[in-house]
Amino acid sequence: MHYLISIFLWLFAVVCALAQTYIPGNSYYGNTGYIQYIAGNIPVIISAPHGGYLEPADIPDRSCSGCVLVKDAYTLELANELAAAITAQTGCYPHIIINLLHRKKLDANRDIEEAADGNAVAEQAWYEFQGFIDSAKQQTAAGFGKGLYIDLHGHGHTIQRIELGYLHTAAELQLPDSVLNTNTYINGSSIKNLVISNLTNQTHAQLLRGNFALGTLLQNKGYPSVPSAGIPYPLPGEPYFNGGYNTARHSSYNGGTIDGIQMECNSGIRLTTAARLAFADSLATALNQYLEQHYFPFYSAGPCTVINLPQCAQQPQIWGQANTCAGTTDIYWVTPTEGATYFWTVTGGNIVNGQGTAQVEILWNNNVTGSVSVLKTEQ
Ligand SMILES: [Zn+2]
Repeated sequence: MHYLISIFLWLFAVVCALAQTYIPGNSYYGNTGYIQYIAGNIPVIISAPHGGYLEPADIPDRSCSGCVLVKDAYTLELANELAAAITAQTGCYPHIIINLLHRKKLDANRDIEEAADGNAVAEQAWYEFQGFIDSAKQQTAAGFGKGLYIDLHGHGHTIQRIELGYLHTAAELQLPDSVLNTNTYINGSSIKNLVISNLTNQTHAQLLRGNFALGTLLQNKGYPSVPSAGIPYPLPGEPYFNGGYNTARHSSYNGGTIDGIQMECNSGIRLTTAARLAFADSLATALNQYLEQHYFPFYSAGPCTVINLPQCAQQPQIWGQANTCAGTTDIYWVTPTEGATYFWTVTGGNIVNGQGTAQVEILWNNNVTGSVSVLKTEQ
């Protein structure tokens, strides 16, 4: 269970503490400034972990053995172009989470050890990246009950097709439909919740490579994809990415009602602006079709419901100074629950102690406003 609790502070002047409400289409940044969250109001969450450019000198290049340092070129741009295409088609905003750091500094699709290679700032950025996805999922589950998460990547394989990762290996995808439809493989799927509950009782194998699979919808628009009706599985020896850390962590494979798919885009559809814009438009259409076909009847007729987080008076409360001054260190806390963990997000200051616990110390800097929010996670 996740609970998002927020307060907003005016450091110099104001008396009242208000609940933070994300405004769809607006950008928010974590404390490091290296993670961008564009708030959404539809049950679509898109992350781009490998498209960032920033190489701050105070974060050393990752030097872990075997770690991948190459960025997925133009996937940051593609995430923004996809968001714009979705907004142009629907008037609504998907949730977008972007790692602005170059992969040399942070790999936001690995566990924290490999991701940050022990650097404290990179670790903080990693928590912010994962925290914004958690927040988007929590908002989506609260507003719609279910939804779809796409982890957006680019692959360098020579076969020009989109590789969709559902956490099944190429060898597993080569199995007959009847085997993929058994509980063993459904439980290992990143769209587990969708298999359990979809509008037309499609089977797992149909959702992977039937007529209304995401790969087939893309194939029908001129974008070959695997798996799909046309290419049901990678042949032995063919390269294929089946889904990484984010897909496993944030999809219904790991519980909950948000399904996840890793999307690895071939170079031919992302290296030029013209190719990306055409693909973004087709992908936005395909995602709308997919959501209407499987998740929400009449989705394309009006999916756009503004999600308002409850006001602070109705939430479990964050305690602490609402009026404070730059240069001051203050303590903020919530009533602790045994076994729960707490991820705090601060703007206008830095957490100097207590991240992960029910109480933090925050050093306020020279901004005139600041905010504190906490995501409580109970097992
Ligand atoms: Zn990648």
